[in-house]
Amino acid sequence: MNIKKLKKRAENLRKIIEKHSYLYYVVDKPKIEDSVYDSLVEELIKLEEKFPVLKTATSPTQRVGGEPLKKFKKVKHKIPQWSFNDAFNEEDMFKFDERVKKMLEKEFGKKISLAYVCELKIDGLKIVLEYKKGELLTAVTRGDGRIGEDVTNNIKTITSIPLKLLKPVDIIVEGEIWLGKNNFEKLNKERKRRGEPLFSNPRNAAAGAIRQLDPKIAAERKLDSFIYDVAMLPRTVLRGGAVQGQSLATQVKELEYLQDLGFKVNKNFKLCSNINEVISYWKSWHLPTGGQKSKKDKQDYLIDGVVVKINEIKYQNILGFTSKAPRFAIAFKFKAEQVTTVVEDIVLQIGRTGALTPVAHLRPVLVAGSVVSRATLHNEDEIKRLDVRVGDTIILQKAGDVIPDIISVVKEMRTGGEKKFIWPKLVVDCGGNGEIERIPGQAVWRCKNKNSFIQKKRKLYHFTSKIAFNIEGLGPKIIDALLEAKLISNYEDIFTLKRGDLLALPRFAEKSVDNLLKAIEKAREITLSRFIISLSIPNVGEETAILLAQNFGSIEKIINLKIEELEKIEGIGPIVTKSIIDWFADKNNQKTLNNLLKHIKIIPQNFSIKNLERQGKLEGKTFVLTGTLNKISRDEAKEKIRSLGGSISSSVSKETDYVVVGENPGSKYKKAEEIGVEILNEEKFKEILNM
Ligand code: NAD
Repeated sequence: MNIKKLKKRAENLRKIIEKHSYLYYVVDKPKIEDSVYDSLVEELIKLEEKFPVLKTATSPTQRVGGEPLKKFKKVKHKIPQWSFNDAFNEEDMFKFDERVKKMLEKEFGKKISLAYVCELKIDGLKIVLEYKKGELLTAVTRGDGRIGEDVTNNIKTITSIPLKLLKPVDIIVEGEIWLGKNNFEKLNKERKRRGEPLFSNPRNAAAGAIRQLDPKIAAERKLDSFIYDVAMLPRTVLRGGAVQGQSLATQVKELEYLQDLGFKVNKNFKLCSNINEVISYWKSWHLPTGGQKSKKDKQDYLIDGVVVKINEIKYQNILGFTSKAPRFAIAFKFKAEQVTTVVEDIVLQIGRTGALTPVAHLRPVLVAGSVVSRATLHNEDEIKRLDVRVGDTIILQKAGDVIPDIISVVKEMRTGGEKKFIWPKLVVDCGGNGEIERIPGQAVWRCKNKNSFIQKKRKLYHFTSKIAFNIEGLGPKIIDALLEAKLISNYEDIFTLKRGDLLALPRFAEKSVDNLLKAIEKAREITLSRFIISLSIPNVGEETAILLAQNFGSIEKIINLKIEELEKIEGIGPIVTKSIIDWFADKNNQKTLNNLLKHIKIIPQNFSIKNLERQGKLEGKTFVLTGTLNKISRDEAKEKIRSLGGSISSSVSKETDYVVVGENPGSKYKKAEEIGVEILNEEKFKEILNM
C-alpha cells in the first residue's frame, strides 16, 4: 500500500475506533465485541509504529477511556489513570519480559530476575476511591484518565465497598465494579418482561447503573467490587520500601494490605517467578480441561484476561509510564474469537466433486489461538448476502475447532477502492469448455466437466486421506509430485507403484519409499464404508457411507441399487439418492471402479449391533463431538457410538441428545449450553459407553 492509502486507512481506523469508544465508554452501549475493537486498535498502533508520520496528537492510541458525562460533577484525579498495553499471545509476553529486563539492566548495570503478579482482569467499570481517616470521601470513574465523574452516591449502595475502613487511614485505591452473571440474567429477564431494551453484557449493565444519577438503580442491580491497587498512600505506609510504619514493597503486599483494610480483594492472584509461570497461569484460566468449562467461565464475574504486574514496587517506579500505560504491567488478553482483518483476494476453489467454492484470502490474523489466512465464503449467495468485496475489512470468527467464518463486513472502513467479485460464466480450470452449472434447489455451482485435472487431484488427496484409504505418507505434496512425474493419473495407479518409480522422485530417500510402499500394501484391505467414502460421490459423506454399508453389505449390491431401495433407508434423502444412482450409472465411474476393485479387497465390517437388531443402549440417540478427546480418538468414539446404535451429527440442534466436549471445544459447546443439550465430558462419555 502506498503512503496515501495507508494514511486513509489510519484515518478510517481512527474514525471507527472513536465511534465505538464513544458507544462503549460514554453511552455504555457497545455495538461490537471487545476483541473486534481491540483488533482495530492493534492495527492502528502497528501502523503508527511503522509509519510515525501517520501519528496524530489526538489519535485514540494516545488516549485513555472516554469523556466524562456532563450530568456528573467532574473530579480531577490526584493520581492520573491509565489503561494497559495489550498482549495477545505467548510471543507478546516474551517480548514484554525481555523489554522490561533490558530497561532494568541498563539502570542497574546487571541482569535482574523478575517476579510477576498475575491478577484476573475483571471486566467491569474502573473506580477510584478516596478515604479520609478511614471514611469514604469520593468515588470517581476513570473518565478520560485526567478527569472522572463523581459517582459517590451510587458507589455507596454497593455492600462490598466499605464506607469505613478497618484502619483510620488516608488512602486512594483503585478497583473494579462488576455485576454477577446470575444477577445480570435475572435483570435482563425482568427487563424483557417489562418490554425494556436488554443489556448486551454485565459490564454495560454495571457501567449503566453507576453512570446515572439515581442511586436506587445502582442499589437494585446488586453490584459488587474487587479492589486491586493502592494509588496514594496513608502517611504512615510508604509504597515501594518504607522505612517507617508498614512497608508496601511489593504488589502482593499491597493486595494483602487492601484486605487488611477491609476491601474485597480477588483471591485468585498468583506470584510467578518467571514469564513461563505467567503463561501457565493464563492458560489455566481460559482453556477448558477434560470437557469441563474453563475456570474463567465458572466464575460469576466476567474476566477478559490476566493483568501481569512486576511485583517489586521499586522496579515499577523505575520503569514508570508512557503517555497512556504503565511500562511495568501488561494486559494479557484471552484468546479472541472475533477479530478484524482484510480480504486480499477472493479465489474460486474447485473441489473433488467439481463444486466451486469461493475462498477469501485474508491478511493473516491470529484468532482463537491460531493464525488464519483463508476463510470459505461457501457459495455465490453468501458473497451477495455479506456484500463482501476484495479490499474489505471484515470481522472473522473462529471458536475452538470450528472453521473460521466471515460474519460481517466493516463497511465504514471502505475507501471506494474495493472490488466486487463477479461470479464467472466459464471457469477454465474446470477443464473441457469450462462450463459451470447450478442445479436448481442447490446453492453450489459445479463444473459441468467432471474430470478436470484439479478435480482429479483433489479426489486423489481425498482418496488417500485418513477417512478413506488412510495411506500414511501419501499426502497432497507427494500426490502432486506423482502427478507431475506422470506416475499416477487415477486411483488404481497408486496400487501399481514400484520402488524404482518412487526413488526417481526428487527428495525421496530409500527409507521413505519403503515406508510408503508398506502403507500402500496395508491399505489394500479396506472396509466397505471407507471404500464408499473414498469414491468422492457427490453428497455422500461418512454417515451416508455407513448407512449404505450397514444396509447393503457389499459393493456389488450397492453398484446395482434401484431408487426404491435407497428411498427406503431412513437418513438418505432424494438429493443423495439421485447423486448415488447417477454416480454408479456413469460409464467413466464404472470403469474407475472396476479397475480399482482389481487391486483391493473389501473386508467385513463389524457393526457390532447390525441395523436389523439395533437395540443398542444408544438406540435413537444423537451425539455431537467437539474439542480434542484425550483418552479415545475421534474415530474410535464415533465407531463406538454407532456400534451401540447411536448416530453422530456435525451440528447441535434441539434434536441432539448429547454433546461430548473435549479440550478446546468450539462454538458447539456454547450452543449446547444455550439450548440446554446435555453436555458430557470425556469421563462421563466413557461411562455411558461402558469403557
Ligand atoms: P484496558 O484493557 O487497558 O485495561 C484497564 C482496565 O483494566 C482498568 O481500567 C481496570 O478497570 C481494569 N482492571 C481489571 N482488573 C484489573 C486488575 N487486577 N489490575 C488493574 N486493572 C484491572 O482498559 P481500557 O483502556 O478501558 O481498554 C479498553 C477495554 O475496553 C478493552 O477490553 C476494549 O476491548 C474495551 N472496549 C470495547 C469497545 C467496544 O466497542 N466493544 C470500545 C472501547 C473499549
